[in-house]
Amino acid sequence: MKVAVVGFGMMGRQIAQVFAQQGHEVAVTDENKQALTAGIDEISNGPYGVKSAIAKGKMTANEGAKTLEAIRATSKIDDACKDADLVIEAVFEDLHLKREILSRLDSIVPQKALIASNTSTLGISKIASKLGKKERVLGMHFFNPAQVTKLVEIVKGEHTSLSTVQDAAKIVQMIGKTPIIARDEPGFVANRLGLTLYIEASRLFEEGVATIQDIDLAMKLGYNHPMGPFETADLVGLDTRLRNLEALFQQTGDEKWIPPKSLREMVNQGYIGDPTRRPGSKGGYYTYTGPNTQTHPPP
Ligand code: NAD
Repeated sequence: MKVAVVGFGMMGRQIAQVFAQQGHEVAVTDENKQALTAGIDEISNGPYGVKSAIAKGKMTANEGAKTLEAIRATSKIDDACKDADLVIEAVFEDLHLKREILSRLDSIVPQKALIASNTSTLGISKIASKLGKKERVLGMHFFNPAQVTKLVEIVKGEHTSLSTVQDAAKIVQMIGKTPIIARDEPGFVANRLGLTLYIEASRLFEEGVATIQDIDLAMKLGYNHPMGPFETADLVGLDTRLRNLEALFQQTGDEKWIPPKSLREMVNQGYIGDPTRRPGSKGGYYTYTGPNTQTHPPP
């Protein structure tokens, strides 16, 4: 299968690697040429990249080389997408930008191609509103880090056809992941749940009920979550998280989604998450709040 990824940032890189590892040809494109070089480097050398997978015995050196060979980077969106069977858009979480990219894709991609958005929170029907081929458009929401996480949320827009949903579900299974299918409601399933937890965790932090370390421990040790809500936010990127909440609030008008003040302050001050994954970041929650706030140091 030929796959094109538009937007080669954090998620675009992960998604491209997942498909390339499974033997598919992947063309990637980004308006920022530096993102293309940095992205290929991350797929090779990053924490979930090919070298790390080889070192952990999850992939042979030969499979690693084939994965890298399968990815082609180009700054031209037409070049990346013109013969794709599946295009996955992973640009910034911005409705106008996504709409514009998808309407460009409409005239570039072959008639039968699936056009998927990796949006976390925006309505698929709204993103697809300017397209002719609306029945082939859907949400394919991957989770960070996509090389490891098993879920892909498939979002059926107002005009998405049943065969599009079925084709997407087969693709998700083919790459070794599990699909769930959601109606096109802001936040779908996973982010409506995950962001609700994050909002409540932020309230606990802002009210001084507990430290961020202890709030994270509560969910890790009490509920067996692999990561706490603040560790997850640092991984996702705090700028992305802010955009997600703003998008949810704009779409629903529900005050529940108003971004926490602490999040906005951190983003304004340049704390946008884990600096190894968010270049230029001053750090995430654990840097921002300082090292000595843990009430129960690990044994
Ligand atoms: P990011 O900021 O890391 O990457 C976005 C990329 O889009 C950048 O490289 C940027 O240069 C590129 N871009 C912007 N405008 C473009 C254009 N006109 N043409 C081509 N490329 C363009 O963002 P991200 O975290 O990878 O998020 C991308 C999407 O995935 C968003 O919709 C986000 O909500 C969603 N998502 C993010 C996560 C996460 O954990 N970060 C998880 C699931 C889904």
